[in-house]
Amino acid sequence: MLIAANWKMYNGPAATAEFCLGLREQELDGVDVVVCPPFVSLAVAVQLLAGTEIAVAAQNVHWEDEGAFTGEISAPMLLELGVYGAIVGHSERRQHFGETDESVARRAHRALEAGLFVIACVGETEQERERGETEDVLRRQVSVLEADDNLVVAYEPVWAIGTGKTATPEIAQEAHAFVKTLLDVPVLYGGSVKPDNADELLAQQDVDGALVGGASLDLESFTSICRAAPRS
Ligand code: PEP
Repeated sequence: MLIAANWKMYNGPAATAEFCLGLREQELDGVDVVVCPPFVSLAVAVQLLAGTEIAVAAQNVHWEDEGAFTGEISAPMLLELGVYGAIVGHSERRQHFGETDESVARRAHRALEAGLFVIACVGETEQERERGETEDVLRRQVSVLEADDNLVVAYEPVWAIGTGKTATPEIAQEAHAFVKTLLDVPVLYGGSVKPDNADELLAQQDVDGALVGGASLDLESFTSICRAAPRS
């Protein structure tokens, strides 16, 4: 089971340091934990989590190693810092920053090639679900990815992200099973995962972990989600 914390645009270096010092003290044996701070907080997270089993990943990564791409960060830059992986294709990137299936695929491809672990996010909007297009959307988003030992997919229905609306365990299970027919990789669930719904979601057969946004900003709620993960 993998539990990843997506801090979005929260937690600068000072808040990240405080969180990581607290996280170090927790007993989280038997679950793989990843924290994804904003770029400016990666260095302090890598430093303070060194020597633990907790990995640090970025929230995005570019497909070129360097060049005239203002505001972007490359895979070799992340690796130089000691960062373990990166999220790509988060719905907030697709929605607000014009990410497409093609750009997500390029980011994932280069990051994997460079040796990073990648969490690639997919998921339908509320309208797409209502129109019965969930499987078509997932097929389109997943088909651009290539299976890799260092790739996991996060199924994050857009209507459940930051909205407090969680997919039912049945909806999550159905979508995860479908994603696995397209690509043989572990699939995390994301979308308003909280300490009080984590057990049920993580108990589903094809749910291999969680990508947690809002509830990962509080140490106690994040660690209680980590503890809800069934131990393999
Ligand atoms: C996310 O940011 O990936 C996410 C799932 O957010 P939240 O848990 O806040 O819905």
